[in-house]
Amino acid sequence: MKFDNRLVLFNCRLFDSERGRLLHDRSVLVEGEKIKAVEKGASAGSFGSFTPVDLGGLTLLPGLIDVHVHITVPFMHKVTPRASFAMGRQIERNARACIEAGITTVRDTGGFPGRLSSLISAIDSGDIPGPRIIRCNSCITAPGGCPDWVPSFRSFVKAYLGGQYAERVGNPEEAAKQTGEMVRLGAEWIKVYCQHRSWLLGRGDLPVLDPDTFRAVVDTARRSGKKVCCHISSLKDLEYAMSMGVDTFEHSPLDEIPDKTAVEFAARSMVLNPTLACLDVGSDELWQTVESVLDERGPSILEPEPLRQVRRHIRTYRTESYPPQRSTYMRKPYFDLPLIARGFSNALTNVGRVLHAGGRVGVGTDSGGLPTALFGVFYVEELQRLELAGLTPAQVLMLATSGNASILGMDDRIGTIGPGRIADMIAVEGNPLKDLKALSKVRMVMKSGRFLKGAPGADHFRIVSKWLRGRNSRKPGSSGTP
Ligand SMILES: [Zn+2]
Repeated sequence: MKFDNRLVLFNCRLFDSERGRLLHDRSVLVEGEKIKAVEKGASAGSFGSFTPVDLGGLTLLPGLIDVHVHITVPFMHKVTPRASFAMGRQIERNARACIEAGITTVRDTGGFPGRLSSLISAIDSGDIPGPRIIRCNSCITAPGGCPDWVPSFRSFVKAYLGGQYAERVGNPEEAAKQTGEMVRLGAEWIKVYCQHRSWLLGRGDLPVLDPDTFRAVVDTARRSGKKVCCHISSLKDLEYAMSMGVDTFEHSPLDEIPDKTAVEFAARSMVLNPTLACLDVGSDELWQTVESVLDERGPSILEPEPLRQVRRHIRTYRTESYPPQRSTYMRKPYFDLPLIARGFSNALTNVGRVLHAGGRVGVGTDSGGLPTALFGVFYVEELQRLELAGLTPAQVLMLATSGNASILGMDDRIGTIGPGRIADMIAVEGNPLKDLKALSKVRMVMKSGRFLKGAPGADHFRIVSKWLRGRNSRKPGSSGTP
């Protein structure tokens, strides 16, 4: 979508995401969807035909990237009719929440293919604000395997939902067929599950893809030029998936990665996306954060039925009666939170081990993947946990921007503010290199050269209103103000 805009964003500090430092008093020239130049200094009058946008001293960063979300999973723990009717509206809210939080690109690691297609076209046509989505479509897993709490739908339900979260394959032929189908439906990555022990109370060991079937997934993906991301939970899962040659590993193992494995991991350029916030289920503070976000703005981020289910989820796990009696949890699935909580310190240490060995680590949140993983909220939580793992805020922000862009193979386009890059930028108050919480105060979001969230300065508001008028007159009936 080509459009005319010539803007100069000035009076800001700029985060250099390749070197991890702040550059003072910079101006960024934007032409159409791209960054034309980055210059030092400047004032409102010094760029000729470029319209000045005064950022009032805010810190400008590349748009944030989340390499692990489930944007079409509508926070429904239970697929009630009410929840599925609210699905479309909830998906839109998820997309908006990403933009509100400054996340301009996501990799969706599992969702409903039909819903992903309609969401992506609604975002591309400007009907709703949302991030750029790199998709996996449905996940591939073994029959009865993880995610063992996710149902397999009957075909009419599947048609309504736009496909399903996980497709289950029992042999190499089915694996090749389903993988090929996900690629045909637009997958840029293939998501596969490899978890030997259930996260549900009392369920014990789980089937995983046998080597030939697993290999058929990876080979089919490779033949189509696609990479593979793999859900894991333990060292056993990690080592098995490494032997299958997957590219990224989703969730840090709950037991310690030995040095030898970390060294091999690094040598093979594999990537760990630890998703620490979603594994930190033993943190009272995190539960309280989620609860207070729901109290403050629950109805604005969740549809009524998803909100009810999320609150119910919190009630289930935050009461004295959890964990329930064996007879109860064998009848009805309950997550084994103590199991995950016990492994959290290993999950955290593993990040340092992988980095120390020279390996790569990404920033992903699993937003949408569990009922408390609210879009945006979990992003800042994840950044803070990476700091806890031993990184400086500057290193964390490099991972979140240029690092994530390189994991996605998009570092020539996003993750950095520089000439020729796509104009994805956010502005925050304060200094995020001193305190990562500054990322929870995103004041301006630009994606592909368009403002999707405001910035200070009268000039800016004039530009936005002009742009909205232009857009609304081009597209009658579009869904209004981003
Ligand atoms: Zn996930």
